[in-house]
Amino acid sequence: MDTSGPIRPRLPSPVWDVADPWLAERGVELRLKRDDLIHPLVPGNKWRKLTPNLRAAVEQGHTRLLTFGGAYSNHIRAVAAAGAAYGLATVGVIRGDELAGAPRNWSLARAEEHGMELAFVSRSAYRETLRGLSEDDPGTLRVLEERWGRAHVLPEGGTNVLAAGGAAELVAELPDLGSRDVVCCAVGTGGTLAGIATALPAGARAVGFAVLKGADGYLEGEVAELHRRGWGRTFGNWRIEHGCHGGGYGRVPVELEAFAARFEERQGVRVERRYVAKMLWGVYGLVERGELTPGSRVTAVVTGPPDPEPGRAARDVSRGCGGA
Ligand SMILES: *Cc1c(COP(=O)(O)O)cnc(C)c1O
Repeated sequence: MDTSGPIRPRLPSPVWDVADPWLAERGVELRLKRDDLIHPLVPGNKWRKLTPNLRAAVEQGHTRLLTFGGAYSNHIRAVAAAGAAYGLATVGVIRGDELAGAPRNWSLARAEEHGMELAFVSRSAYRETLRGLSEDDPGTLRVLEERWGRAHVLPEGGTNVLAAGGAAELVAELPDLGSRDVVCCAVGTGGTLAGIATALPAGARAVGFAVLKGADGYLEGEVAELHRRGWGRTFGNWRIEHGCHGGGYGRVPVELEAFAARFEERQGVRVERRYVAKMLWGVYGLVERGELTPGSRVTAVVTGPPDPEPGRAARDVSRGCGGA
């Protein structure tokens, strides 16, 4: 049965075992769930989160998608490519009006190549719009529709109940999960983590690693709210680590860069820095601190591929997560 729609995915995504003597000494198994290989243009958790939303948009008769993101947003690029594949027009509201007159970076250029109309707004206007949408303010929606016409609005990062449900499907591709298993992923908005938690078998746990600084408490609230809205209950099988953001979103401190480079060299796989490297860094930190007992098996979800060109990463030094 083909339920994939016009974007043909590689599913189930492959699972790779990581051979690492440092982990073996500590009795921990690590494997990578290679969601980065799902699709070249709509990769990783973006395929999982967007597909149910695009299907819903088409069913509701929409012809246009409207969404939000920063200058290097993976979500913005994915929506542009997915919209094109589904025959939907796309509008990307981009944070930062100073970008309007600047040469396009590779990420925004790619979104435009897929036909996305970019609208640059000031940081304060961006914040106000997102606040209005999250508070279900009808005025905010009206202003957007007056400017761009009727559109299916996807939140920043693409997270909603449908998206979390899409992310949950990756757990069904791991039929061997049990009580020794920990499924790990990076946390931007928490949609992916929320979805994973809903689908785990009894005894298995999910750990998310926040890539934003200062999101302690906030992200837990977002995940719990998704669970209440979508599943009518909360789940006790997940938690979020807040010590591995490396100084904040998009920041790649020297220790993180060194960790990621070493992992790439030893495992022969390239690692995306803003999310995936931070998550792996955090997993090694958990092992180093003895928080994963011998016999544990970690399935680390590779939620996206490396950037073709690295973004603007601040090389500041901050305390790391530890690890080999
Ligand atoms: C968007 C993204 C995330 C964040 O996912 P959330 O569901 O927002 O937590 C993680 N990893 C990669 C590679 C991403 O592009």
